[in-house]
Amino acid sequence: MSKIIIIGAGIGGLSAGARLAKSGHEVEIFESAPRTGGKCQTEWIGDYGFDTGPSLFTLPAVYKDLFLKTGKRIENVLTLAPTNPSFRYNFPDGKSVDFVNLDLPKTCAAIDQALGKQAGDAWHRIMQRAEIMWDISRNTFVQSELPSIRSLIKEKNFIRNLRFMAPWSSLRRIAQGYSQDPHILAIVDRYATYTGSDPRRAPAALLTIPFIETSFGAWHIQGGVGQLSRALTERCESLGVKIHLNSPVAKILIENEIAVGIQAVDGAIHKADKVIANADPSLVYEEMIDHKVKSSKKERAKLRASEKSLAGFVLLLGLDNSKISTPAPDMAHHNIYFTSNYDAEFDQIFKQQIPVGDPTIYICKPDDVTMTKRANTESWFVLINAPRHDPKRGWDWSQGAEKYAQHIISKLDSLGLQVSERLDLMEIRTPLDLANSTGAPGGSIYGSASHGARSVFARAANKSPITNLYFVGGGAHPGGGLPLVGISAELVVDAINGTKPGESFH
Ligand SMILES: Cc1cc2nc3c(=O)[nH]c(=O)nc-3n(C[C@H](O)[C@H](O)[C@H](O)COP(=O)(O)OP(=O)(O)OC[C@H]3O[C@@H](n4cnc5c(N)ncnc54)[C@H](O)[C@@H]3O)c2cc1C
Repeated sequence: MSKIIIIGAGIGGLSAGARLAKSGHEVEIFESAPRTGGKCQTEWIGDYGFDTGPSLFTLPAVYKDLFLKTGKRIENVLTLAPTNPSFRYNFPDGKSVDFVNLDLPKTCAAIDQALGKQAGDAWHRIMQRAEIMWDISRNTFVQSELPSIRSLIKEKNFIRNLRFMAPWSSLRRIAQGYSQDPHILAIVDRYATYTGSDPRRAPAALLTIPFIETSFGAWHIQGGVGQLSRALTERCESLGVKIHLNSPVAKILIENEIAVGIQAVDGAIHKADKVIANADPSLVYEEMIDHKVKSSKKERAKLRASEKSLAGFVLLLGLDNSKISTPAPDMAHHNIYFTSNYDAEFDQIFKQQIPVGDPTIYICKPDDVTMTKRANTESWFVLINAPRHDPKRGWDWSQGAEKYAQHIISKLDSLGLQVSERLDLMEIRTPLDLANSTGAPGGSIYGSASHGARSVFARAANKSPITNLYFVGGGAHPGGGLPLVGISAELVVDAINGTKPGESFH
């Protein structure tokens, strides 16, 4: 058994830590922040509780497996609840549709009714195609370390699989093959943003994301999705993992191309048999690994060449309904208000690198009484896609946030949501804030964007080319978002323990 050091107590670091400790390793986590969980937090401001990172929990099987295999089942430590509807989509022409959680036929019927039968049929056919894509890609691209392109070509059914996966096509284009309805296209386009990408350049394979959401459900964790961080931290501690908070790591110590430990920012040296980086891989390759280490050069160059994912501009709003005389507008748990011009939104984020003038707005209004302390109040997490903080070549988020927040509030009012009248509390979180609190470069939410068929190969490998150095988390394979981050932890643990990829997955 080995002594293992993990840099970062995000969901990836904690998930790997718990699994490794359970399999007998001695694990220490060094975390620069005063808290665990990284981007996954439930925060309280006054009477209002907010999920300031993930507010949607999908593919719970990943964490069910983790909790089961490391001790008590997830049901003993967290209360999961499906949200219904899974999403309420509102369109600029005034139409809206509720997707029924875990029920594709009912969702198609709801689409029929709101947008017409052709749209409902198209969604059904899109989900059928997505299911085939998921079956083809889950073992090769998600639940195992990435294969080489050469080995892919040798696979049985390669030509058939290629036809279904359509790597030459974008997410936008594959959806256009099934429907020209602008509402359906907008719904599909939005799934590109789950990996921080532009649907016109994201690979068709991202169609698997709505399939996963439809088939395995959209879930909430009572008390906030950030409770996952608390439960994982407790699981790690109960298994003997030592977590050092306020302990930033400065360097990974490498001797003869082998990782042998870390040096903390306070200068202390900690030796280890293996090191796992949960901090963003670009940050690690640029700042923590000596550029003279030969085996690091190719990965560093690869990460430099990859385009970074989009960031988010966040408003945390505490609303007091006693301030209005009419009933508060009816909201679902997850609400989307689409822009009238999605192309302009993605152009502004990725090409012009400016805040979006007329953005698509996501509002999470938790259907969870435990997330406010006063009756007749609501805590809203409002997320707007935004360019990353890049003062040299793009947008500088150190200024203008107040003005942009007012612009968004006006838009919410114009949608009839009566925000100004009810506003009791507002806190703004810019991409710069996320960069400062979690080390995400420029506040990119998902590491590298998924632009182009080869983007799947652009993320950091879980087993790095430097012996005994591994990468876990959203910047590493297979990507960002809680389910993939949990899978990346399994892949790293499999690589360290010599177990087979996917062996422990249900
Ligand atoms: C606004 C927002 C909304 C999101 N919505 C969703 C959603 O609805 N559903 C979903 O599934 N996902 C969502 N995500 C994505 C999800 O939160 C992330 O993919 C996931 O939490 C990333 O976990 P991680 O372990 O990769 O890294 P992180 O959470 O980034 O953790 C990395 C950790 O490393 C630490 N660290 C960095 N540098 C050092 C250093 N030098 N020394 C020591 N420690 C260091 C950081 O402090 C941090 O704690 C969202 C994210 C954001 C920001």
